[in-house]
Amino acid sequence: MKTEIFGMPLPQLQTALAELGMKKFRAKQIYDWLYQKCVFDFAQMSNLGKAERQLLQETFSVLPAEIRVVRKLDSADGLTQKILLELPDGNAIETVLMHHDYGYSVCVSSQVGCDMHCAFCASGLHGAVRNLTVAEIAAQVYLFDARLAAAGERVSRVVVMGSGEPMLNFDAVFEALQFLHQPDVANIGYRNMTVSTCGIIPGIQKMQKLELPINLAISLHAVRNELRSELMPVNQGFPFPDVIAAAEEYATSSGRQVTYEYILLADINDSDRDAELLAEYLRYKQAGVNLIPANPVPEKGYFRPKMQRIERFVSILRRHRIHATVRKEMGKDINAACGQLRAAFAGEKAQGTRS
Ligand code: SF4
Repeated sequence: MKTEIFGMPLPQLQTALAELGMKKFRAKQIYDWLYQKCVFDFAQMSNLGKAERQLLQETFSVLPAEIRVVRKLDSADGLTQKILLELPDGNAIETVLMHHDYGYSVCVSSQVGCDMHCAFCASGLHGAVRNLTVAEIAAQVYLFDARLAAAGERVSRVVVMGSGEPMLNFDAVFEALQFLHQPDVANIGYRNMTVSTCGIIPGIQKMQKLELPINLAISLHAVRNELRSELMPVNQGFPFPDVIAAAEEYATSSGRQVTYEYILLADINDSDRDAELLAEYLRYKQAGVNLIPANPVPEKGYFRPKMQRIERFVSILRRHRIHATVRKEMGKDINAACGQLRAAFAGEKAQGTRS
């Protein structure tokens, strides 16, 4: 079986090459091909000898070359692209590229599926299948990077907010982020990385111990205990006031303001009282709120609030001096399929209907 080279730390690669009888400096050259030129085929690594390329091909696999892009969805405004990726073991994950004024940002998945069973999320429908590896997390960035590199652009931000709960795959997620941070890899600053959790407190505390200025986002979505437990069962194990307290400690120690994600569901969590309560919980905290008008899921009774209601919710927060933004409607037309592309793919595979 071949060894995976993608995501391998440089010293480990140097040792692996030495065992093959290759010179140490070749490791740097290979790093340059993989992570700067985004070339994932040894045959194209033209400054290596022919015999060496052959040997590398026989010894190593390169994950981005083995991941199949099954489906691509482009938003009508051309600023967002979602891809469904089939991993070598046949599992599928979704990754999203967003083009902002300040550059390109990739939203990566951390697990295949998710065990958190949030009521509004298709990723949690059937539970987690498995954790993603360091290479699989980093490769999601590089699949987009490879395309951007041709135009002289690179991904400059990473958000771990795709399928999966990052804190339940802690080691691989943070190893992947530290790998992507390296100057000879993607050179993405920690301040341009965000990890989003549904509120796994031990994970937040572990993240704090890393002492890296990575941004923390909390999927909050409700501030009434019963409602939050209904929408997010994780609330039963980690009640949201404790999550906010842990996040505040993180903000204090990292110096990074915490972002609270709040999906606005019409007539469920968008009342004046909800906004007042949210403001009360976050008052004097180093926190901002990112409001996400829901994509309608009629079968679940989820609808997007009217614009007037959204504005009213924002104005209440702002009156209490809470920094609140409404998520820019990037790729609204493809957001509707969040987590659903994978679910559909899994269904088709099970029925053997995939083309
Ligand atoms: S919203 Fe996030 S934590 Fe909740 S089920 Fe979906 S992927 Fe998991």
